[in-house]
Amino acid sequence: MICPLECAEPGSGTMCAECGSELVAERPAPTPPPADLLVRFEFGDIAPRAGAPVPLGRDPDWSSHAGALEPYTNVSRKHATVGMDADGAIWIDPEKTPNGTFRNGEELPPNARHPLAQGDRVRLAAKLEGVVTR
Ligand SMILES: [Zn+2]
Repeated sequence: MICPLECAEPGSGTMCAECGSELVAERPAPTPPPADLLVRFEFGDIAPRAGAPVPLGRDPDWSSHAGALEPYTNVSRKHATVGMDADGAIWIDPEKTPNGTFRNGEELPPNARHPLAQGDRVRLAAKLEGVVTR
């Protein structure tokens, strides 16, 4: 048994010998880490892992999703990369493309990591839209 106020020597009774608090079996469980975010496109979910960014484009040598993106002719061969930091934060890093990469309707400057939060809408070129979710 431990003291909820974390006294060093609560004793062996039902009350803490130091502060009088009722002793508890164990400390409350630590807050779980936030659930992983992903970007849900109509062709599928992009769920990056820390250290394994996911390139999105129509070049099959560059993106493993090239086949699914082939119908979206305005999407560039190398369009944008979705990645995750070690702390679980996700981001999108647009390439310099003619048709742009957008977050909530706003065009994002290329070659920089832009953070994505739950509920954000991302868009590659004119038509390929996704939403950030869990
Ligand atoms: Zn105590």
